[in-house]
Amino acid sequence: MPKKTKAPEVRFTNPEKIFFPATHFTKAEMIHYYVDAAPYILPHLRDRPVTLVRFPDGVTSESFYEKNAPSFTPDWVSKAAVPRRNHEGEINYILVNDVNTLAWCANLAAIEFHPFLHRVPDIEKPTHIVFDLDPGEGSDVLTCARVAFLLKEILDKLGLESFAKASGSKGMQIYVPLNTRVTYDATGPFARTVAELLAQEHADLVVSNMSKALRKKKVLIDWSQNSRSKTTVSVYSMRAKHAEPYISMPVEWGELKTALHKKDLKAFYFTPKQALARMKKKGDLFEPVLTLKQKLPSAFMAQVSKTSRPLEAYKKKRDFSKTKEPAPTRADQRKQTEAGGRRFVIQKHAASHLHYDFRLEMDGVLKSWAIPKGVPYELGVKRSAFATEDHPLEYFKFEGTIPKGQYGGGTVMVWDIGTYDVTEGSFWKGSMKISLKGKKLKGLWHMFKIRSDGGKDVWLIAKSEKPMKPLSARDEDKSVLTGRSMAQIAQDDDAQWHSDRSPDDENTVKRIKKKRAVPAG
Ligand code: MN
Repeated sequence: MPKKTKAPEVRFTNPEKIFFPATHFTKAEMIHYYVDAAPYILPHLRDRPVTLVRFPDGVTSESFYEKNAPSFTPDWVSKAAVPRRNHEGEINYILVNDVNTLAWCANLAAIEFHPFLHRVPDIEKPTHIVFDLDPGEGSDVLTCARVAFLLKEILDKLGLESFAKASGSKGMQIYVPLNTRVTYDATGPFARTVAELLAQEHADLVVSNMSKALRKKKVLIDWSQNSRSKTTVSVYSMRAKHAEPYISMPVEWGELKTALHKKDLKAFYFTPKQALARMKKKGDLFEPVLTLKQKLPSAFMAQVSKTSRPLEAYKKKRDFSKTKEPAPTRADQRKQTEAGGRRFVIQKHAASHLHYDFRLEMDGVLKSWAIPKGVPYELGVKRSAFATEDHPLEYFKFEGTIPKGQYGGGTVMVWDIGTYDVTEGSFWKGSMKISLKGKKLKGLWHMFKIRSDGGKDVWLIAKSEKPMKPLSARDEDKSVLTGRSMAQIAQDDDAQWHSDRSPDDENTVKRIKKKRAVPAG
């Protein structure tokens, strides 16, 4: 994050412009609302990438969603670069971390603020779950409130406290604070399971499917917001959905009950003036959403870790009763590595074609490429590196023979191991400079993605900065683990791997377990 310069003065433009014609609500009044609401809304926006919904000429004219900070964004506005989902470049999101930024955004006619469920830099970890209750044709916010209580009942049974807010549009949202290390891989399936369960039990009232036709007289529980790519309107954000401005406001369960009893639709709609008075009186009713630590049910988490998808491609391609390659251990059993998670390995692999498998430890797996001609030593030479499926960390020291007929059948040598640093760019950016400290390879290389062929990414790798002295012919064909040549490994016809995770441990080699190959079939 760039350092902020001294507190700026935000200059407002066209303050008298009418933004909500029905009530002659002006842009100046909109900005005023945000400045007054700042102590309440800012904690909920802090460090969250945000999408602004801008209405340059008010709610009756065109609007647009703005994710990327505009080119004229001043330096003092905090920003966070987040990789795009397709890995092509990144989005420079605004972080609304102070009242000046809030006022500056409001002056851009950002009536609505839609933050992500996560904060930077932990973009895989939502701090809460959100259920968006969206009324279909023939139902309304009171129907949503009924569904909200059904949802609360389930969540209560699971020991999870939940908090409701009026959306300021048509429906409501229910928030479940987490504030733990749980990721979208668990919260998404959890939200979906709960929504589908309710849709089954209350088919007359609830749907969990997006189809508009099914929604008639019912409420959609939209669980799909619990995704790394989705934003939800912020608590205390103004909404541009009606002729007059309403605020997305927390509503207590007791108040909801009363509203249901009295069939009081008005209890869900707060003008900016009412909203500010309520904030002063009640304080931030959504404060627990930021502070309450709650865990998803352990039975559910066990199910998630069993079915989690990392390394699925690796497992699918292999029959572990036949190959001696390691089967991945469960994600929840993987340990943090001693080298701080930055090891690399290059395996020389005589399969149908000889190639070098280049693997970098990242996010608990080995990101992998097949480099047919190996890593270049001289400057100005670019070699193709074909991205292959992620491999489990256990593969780090796999050396031996993969049976013929199995995927990748042939001889595998641990050609080099060591640690690496990304000194520039990133894997997700598709361009990175990596510094290798291996037993053979030392120095800086540049890797960059050039295209995707049917889902397969093709990268190039080139030597950077200065050339590396070529290895002797003997070292080119020598395992850094066992000292064996390819021919010797093929002859030994064994397979070995080792769970010790320190690549620099010289004793590793002696402790490697050798296993005789069991003839297949
Ligand atoms: Mn290979």
